[in-house]
Formats: sequence, C-alpha cells, structure tokens
Amino acid sequence: MSGMTDKIVLVTGASSGIGEATVRELAAGGARLFIGARRAGRLEALAGELGEQVAWKELDVTDAGSFEAFAAAAEARFGRIDVLVNNAGVMPLSPLAALKRDEWRRMIDVNIHGVLNGIAAVLPRFQAQGRGHVVNVASIAAHLVMPTAAVYCATKHAVWAITDGLRQEHDDIRATIVSPGVVATELGHDITDPDVASALQEWRKKSLTPDAIARAIRFAVEQPDGVDINEVIVRPTAAG
Ligand code: NDP
Repeated sequence: MSGMTDKIVLVTGASSGIGEATVRELAAGGARLFIGARRAGRLEALAGELGEQVAWKELDVTDAGSFEAFAAAAEARFGRIDVLVNNAGVMPLSPLAALKRDEWRRMIDVNIHGVLNGIAAVLPRFQAQGRGHVVNVASIAAHLVMPTAAVYCATKHAVWAITDGLRQEHDDIRATIVSPGVVATELGHDITDPDVASALQEWRKKSLTPDAIARAIRFAVEQPDGVDINEVIVRPTAAG
C-alpha cells in the first residue's frame, strides 16, 4: 500500500500542537484517522470539524489497557490499523538537583512507557497482517543533552533506541523517528521552575510551527511499504 488515501492512522497527543497539526495534514491527504489524548473536548471538536474521516477516543498512553482499548476501537471503526503515530509527550524541565521525582516519573511514564504501550497495542496486529508502520516523535533531545533537560533527553534517547530496535527486529514493519527542533506548542506549560520556564520562552523565539513537523510525518507515512524513512530531523533555520 502506498500513498495516503484510505490509510488508517492512529495519532496520540492529538489534542494540541504537533499531534493536532498531524491530524489536519494527514486528513487533508485522504487518510482516515483515529485520534486520542486525555482532553476529550478538544478531540471531539477536532473530529467534528474534520468530519466522518476522523474518529476519536479518550486515551491515557501511560495505561496499557487504555491503549489496547484505543487500538481495538480504531479497528472496530475502520477495519484495520496501518500506522501508529506515537506523538504524546510531556516536558516538565528542571535541574536534577531540584529532585522533582514526580516530574521525572511522569516524563518516563508518558514519553517511554506511552510509546511502548502503543507498540504493544499494534505490534500483534501488524504481525498478523504482515505490514504496518510506527512513527515515534522523539526530538533533537534524542541526540544531545542540555542542563535542566537530563531526564527529558533520556526519555527521547530511549524513544530513538526503541524505534531503531523495532526496525531491526521486523522486516515487514516500518519504523520512523521524527525528531523536531524547537516548535511553538503547549509543551512545557507544566514547567514548575520559573527560571527554566523563562529560558524556554527565549528558545521559542526561533521556533517552527507544528505544521512543519506534520509535513515530515506525512512524508514518512505516504512512502510505499518497501520504503522506510528511518529518521527525519527538522529544525528551524537560522533565518527563522
Ligand atoms: P503539546 O503539549 O502541544 O502536546 C502534547 C500532547 O500529548 C497533548 O495532546 C497531550 O494531550 C498529550 N498527552 C500528554 N500526556 C498524555 C497522556 N498521558 N496520554 C495521552 N496523551 C497525552 O506538545 P507538542 O505538540 O510540542 O508535543 C508533541 C510531541 O513532540 C511530544 O512527544 C514532544 O516531546 C515532541 N517534541 C516537541 C518539541 C517542541 O519544541 N514542541 C520538540 C521536540 C519534540 P492531553 O493533555 O489532552 O492528554
């Protein structure tokens, strides 16, 4: 199967930012989408705007049962699953010395376990149908480490490793890492350290809009089955 028309695509974290932009981009290309996040009101509004082509279900990616129910509902609605975009993520940055254990745990739960729960929900289905595609949204933080971002970077390094491991273990399943640079979204709204919050505002002065990442995801998804885009890194140019 190649192209986008009629492809059945699951997108997590579809209630804002890169996830929402991806839903809009893939829907414009003719895909049918099953979208999830915790904020049901936002999903309902987006699906209502885009019509029959888009269905939604509340999803907590940290809960394996919630993810399995999400995949089962997508299959019941559209008959199969072709692509999973594991996009949901959180970034409550802080220096390690602040010992914000709850925030470390939340990043590990959403950014790593969330991706693994997604893979667990679709992998048996992809193996049974002999094809499938997992797109994991990592980050440039999968390639570098910055002060205040040690745990976030660790989670994104893990996403990189898990995705490449999936690719190596399965000849008939495509695995793509999409690694954005700075994108203007709601990410980091939950940063509790005021110095780090203002540093983030500084970084965001030169940022992409979420549609730039959505186009990279579309590029990977619309390749033919025999073509696996392993990774796309998208940063803003110096010119902004
Ligand atoms: P947003 O904060 O706008 O979006 C994050 C999404 O994740 C929301 O839709 C949120 O939905 C969802 N989410 C968070 N926790 C859960 C959960 N437990 N279960 C289900 N969904 C959840 O940020 P972005 O669009 O920027 O982030 C998308 C991805 O891009 C993340 O993985 C992020 O790490 C990555 N990224 C972002 C960059 C940036 O500069 N913005 C740069 C590099 C990577 P809800 O709260 O409704 O559940």
